[in-house]
Amino acid sequence: MIVVNAWIIHKFLHTEKEQLDLVRFRRAVCVPYLKLGKADIRIGRKSRDTIPSTRLDDVRYDGKDHVIAKRENQRRCQKKSCSGKPRIYCKKCNITLCLECFAPYHKQ
Ligand SMILES: [Zn+2]
Ligand SMILES: [Zn+2]
Repeated sequence: MIVVNAWIIHKFLHTEKEQLDLVRFRRAVCVPYLKLGKADIRIGRKSRDTIPSTRLDDVRYDGKDHVIAKRENQRRCQKKSCSGKPRIYCKKCNITLCLECFAPYHKQ
């Protein structure tokens, strides 16, 4: 739809000699657009994967203000290889951790 609309505008703006037919116009519009789209997706995925996790790790290991808070319900401990279901969690990280896992989790 967008391509056809753009083509109508193109036809409106150009004389008959300068005009491309719809197929050629479509190709001229779509090819750079598709390349751009792919590049954008790649960049988007890269930033999603790297930036938030490093930021999270910075907070996790900064050693400041990680206080134990209590929830109403039990949740699964988020430390790897732990199957505990504590009610406590780190208020700063907002991550459920057992009392035993609390300190190791915050150490690199
Ligand atoms: Zn924490
Ligand atoms: Zn645990």
